[in-house]
Amino acid sequence: MKVVAKIGSSSLTTVTGEIEHRAVAKICAEVAELNSLGHKTVVVTSAAVSAGLAPLGYNAANRPKEAEKLRAASAVGQIALMATYKGHLASNGLTAGQVLLAPTDMWYRNRYLKSRGTLQALLEAGVVPVINENDAVADDEIRFGDNDRLAALVAHLIDADRLVLLTDTAGVFTADPRHDENASLIEEVIEIDQHLERVVGGPGSSLGRGGMASKLAAAKIAAWSGVETTIAQSDRPNVLLDAVSGEPGVGTVFRAHKQRLPARKLWIAFALPASGRIIVDGGARRAIENERRSLLAAGIIKADGEFPADAAVEVFDERGNLFAKGLTRWDSQQIGAHAGSTSDVFPSDLPEEVIHRDDLVMLPS
Ligand code: GLU
Repeated sequence: MKVVAKIGSSSLTTVTGEIEHRAVAKICAEVAELNSLGHKTVVVTSAAVSAGLAPLGYNAANRPKEAEKLRAASAVGQIALMATYKGHLASNGLTAGQVLLAPTDMWYRNRYLKSRGTLQALLEAGVVPVINENDAVADDEIRFGDNDRLAALVAHLIDADRLVLLTDTAGVFTADPRHDENASLIEEVIEIDQHLERVVGGPGSSLGRGGMASKLAAAKIAAWSGVETTIAQSDRPNVLLDAVSGEPGVGTVFRAHKQRLPARKLWIAFALPASGRIIVDGGARRAIENERRSLLAAGIIKADGEFPADAAVEVFDERGNLFAKGLTRWDSQQIGAHAGSTSDVFPSDLPEEVIHRDDLVMLPS
């Protein structure tokens, strides 16, 4: 099996933000165990930012807000984090290889293929790829932001069999276990629906960026990539092995879909926040949905909200049903001015398609 194991900042650092060596040692020993059984494991690790705060004179309580200070902290923390992984993997006879990714490494086919090729070559050489977002130069607008999504896209990239999201709770509960003593662990999720998303709610700790909502989003990306996800507690003994062998009660397991969406469409559908809405008529919905056509101005009724060209927008039909999402080539003003018109009427410098079919994805209902 190919396994992606993601471990979050709250599991890897102490309350004051120092790297928790025991936690890194545990995950490295379990990775070694998996590899010795013939599985190939990729680690996605957080904690570069939090591990860099203390050396720069910050802690979780006076964490800086400025993006450049956080980027600077990540540069300091990442190197310490990798030294820790390198050491603990080496004591288990394994070599670590660092890979730092940005969303554009998934968007553009040539970079996607390069990233995939590198990861494959590392796995074939028996190296353990240890991945993080390239936080030191991450773009404020275009970034994964949390490593759960990054891990899900990596699972897609390497065609993994299982994604394991390790965190500080035992999985997804029917209610918040910190506040409700009747909360019980959900062991299996066939489909992530809006009800589950509502139950799960809020963000996580001050150290990491994730929280359960972003884990669900990641599990959804993985499900649409044909990858099963397990959310489990990082300090549970043999957690990786149990997650891979499907041990009952290990955590929450999310079943995969049969259909596999391409990475760029996954990103558009699940990772990019929508900046506005486009409402289309019935003919346009049918053309998009049944004939896989691009969205043209002629089928648009109106745009809601203000957004620039290249923004992600949600596409609704006239009955108010959300059915697609895409990257618009027109801004909201251009759509406002030319909705309903055909290309012989609108200015020739405007692209023919408002949303090109390659940038348009049907949303799973
Ligand atoms: N890439 C961030 C870091 O290493 C973590 C993002 C997250 O907490 O998921 O600090």
